[in-house]
Amino acid sequence: MRIPVIAGNWKMNLDRAAAIALARAVRDGVAMRPAGAPPVEVGVTPAYPYLEAVRGLLRGGPIWVGGQDLSPEKNGAFTGEVSAAMLADIGCSHVLVGHSERRQMGESAELCGRKVAAALAGALIPVLCVGETLAQRDAGKTAAVVLEQFESGVRGVAAADVSRLLVAYEPVWAIGTGRNATAAQAGEVHALLRDCAARNWSRAAADSLRILYGGSVKPENAAELLAVPDIDGALVGGAALTAPSFLKIIDACPNRAR
Ligand code: PEP
Repeated sequence: MRIPVIAGNWKMNLDRAAAIALARAVRDGVAMRPAGAPPVEVGVTPAYPYLEAVRGLLRGGPIWVGGQDLSPEKNGAFTGEVSAAMLADIGCSHVLVGHSERRQMGESAELCGRKVAAALAGALIPVLCVGETLAQRDAGKTAAVVLEQFESGVRGVAAADVSRLLVAYEPVWAIGTGRNATAAQAGEVHALLRDCAARNWSRAAADSLRILYGGSVKPENAAELLAVPDIDGALVGGAALTAPSFLKIIDACPNRAR
């Protein structure tokens, strides 16, 4: 059974007051879900300066807090970087790795693999993001690109650690564009990723791996995307910046606990 995950990537948005207000509204909205509502795991990734404040506000509740990036190094002379231990120290449980906005700034697949390893070694759950550009899709390279990013990202991850890993398929052409992948397009890539996970570890490990979809998920398209059996939740950017739209996406999750 894979409980869906709805994670809000706040990126470099909001100020302190707005981040706290959003966290509070999401916390209260999640708390008010009816007892029989489908189980959903919810998380948010605020910008570094507000992580601790948001973590404090959400402490003791079900919503996890994660960083948007981490250093592959443990500690030392790496100006501007933040380690897994630092994120864990302030109460983060998760961290995004290899978001396309970082890959576009030059982050390689190999570096993302080192970050995944650093996150796991630091007791954080990495959310490994993979996805193709429009040019790569048009050139028929989607499978090759996504599987290369995935395999490099999880190189060195033991089968026993697969349950401590999240993957997000985020086609670059769908991020922040308002143009989401169709349920069929996303489902096809999710199935490819799961088959690759089965080859890499085992069918049982692959069946336990939660693969989220990201790219212009909003209340209007969430139910259709989240109904795809291989889609185990969503990584949400723009629509996570207001509580009503984020909460509607949470409520669009199917019941996978049955
Ligand atoms: C993202 O940045 O991870 C994302 C999916 O953004 P958006 O929902 O705005 O497309």
